[in-house]
Amino acid sequence: MDIEHKIRSIEEKIEILSDLKEYLKSLYKQYENVTALKTNLMQDIFKGLKIYNENYRILQKEIEDLKNEEGGDKQTLEEIRKKIKRENYKKVLVQVPEGLKTKVVKIAEEIERETKARVFISAEFCYGSCDLPLEEASVLKVDAIVHIGHSDIGVKTKIPVFYVPVYFDLKIPEKLKKEISKIKEKKLSIYSSEPFRKVLDDLEKFLLKVGKEVIEKKIILGCSDIEQKGEANVFVGSGKFHPLALHGKTYFLNLEKNKLEDMTEEIEREEMKKQARISKFKEAKKIGILISTKPGQFYKDYEKIKEKLEKEGKEAKIVIMDEIKNEKLIGLDFDAYLNTACPRILDNHFDKLIINRKDLF
Ligand code: SF4
Repeated sequence: MDIEHKIRSIEEKIEILSDLKEYLKSLYKQYENVTALKTNLMQDIFKGLKIYNENYRILQKEIEDLKNEEGGDKQTLEEIRKKIKRENYKKVLVQVPEGLKTKVVKIAEEIERETKARVFISAEFCYGSCDLPLEEASVLKVDAIVHIGHSDIGVKTKIPVFYVPVYFDLKIPEKLKKEISKIKEKKLSIYSSEPFRKVLDDLEKFLLKVGKEVIEKKIILGCSDIEQKGEANVFVGSGKFHPLALHGKTYFLNLEKNKLEDMTEEIEREEMKKQARISKFKEAKKIGILISTKPGQFYKDYEKIKEKLEKEGKEAKIVIMDEIKNEKLIGLDFDAYLNTACPRILDNHFDKLIINRKDLF
C-alpha cells in the first residue's frame, strides 16, 4: 500500500472514532439528569472518551510519521540521483539494511527512471557500513555501490561507495521530557545512533535548558566501547543494541516505548557474563580464530593472534567465513572460539564458548 493509501485508511479510522465520540457525547447529554443510571453510565462514557482521545493521538502520530517518512524518502532519492548523474555512473548496486528492505525495489525503480543508470539490488544481510557487498559489485562490474542507511566509517574499498545515511526527523516527545527531568545526575554524556542524530541535538538543547551539563555528545556504533564520562550516560534512540555499548550509569530514552529506562543493571550483568566467558576461555585448549571477509570487519593480524595463543600453550587454527554464524561452526572440533569480526555477533546464540579478541588482547 503506498503512503497516500495508508494515510487515507488511518483517516477513515479517525472518522469512525469521531462518530463514536459524538455518540458518546449525545449519550452523556441524554442521561445527564437521570440520577439512577448516572454514575455507571457516566463512568463508561468517560472511559469511551478517554479511549477516543488516546487512539486519536496515536493515529495522528501515524499520519505525521508517514508524511515525514515520505519527505525523507524524496530527499534520499534526490541525493542519489544527483550523485549518479554527476559521476556519470552507468551501473550501480544498491544496498540497504533490513529495516529498509521493503522500500528498496521502489528506490531502484525510481533511480532507474530518473537517471537511466542500471540498478542492481543486494539482498545480502547488511548490519552496518562495515558490511559492503564488494564481491557482488565486482561480479556485476558496477561503477559504484549506493549504501543507504549508514554513514561512512572509513572502510577502504577499490570500488567507490556512496553512503546515504537516513535520519528520522523527530523531536523528544513532551512525555519523555518530563521523564528526563527526573534524572538526578547533573553532568551527562549523551549518545545516539546515526538515524537519530537530530533527536540527539534536540536532547542536548533540552538538557542545557533544564540546567544539566553535557560532557560529551556522540553518535555511536554497536561496536563502540564507551567508558563513562561525567556522572551518567543518556542514550536516545530505539532498541537496546547501541546503549549496550556503553559502560557505567546509563539511562535509555526509548523512543519506541516512549519511556526512560535505567539500563545500568543490564549493562553490569553483561559485563559479568563477559568476565565469566573470559575465564572459561583461559581453560580451553583448542581454539578456532574466527575471521570474516566483510570488508570493515577484516583484520590482517590473525597470524599474530595465533602466535600469541600458541605461546599461551593453546592449539589455534584460523577459520574464515563471510557472516559468522553458529550453524557454520557445527561439526568443527574446537573447545572455544576467538572472534575477530563484529563484536556484537556474540549477541547471537553459539553452542560453544566464544569471546571477542578485544576482551583478550
Ligand atoms: S562491526 Fe558490527 S557493530 Fe560495528 S558497525 Fe559493523 S555491524 Fe555495526
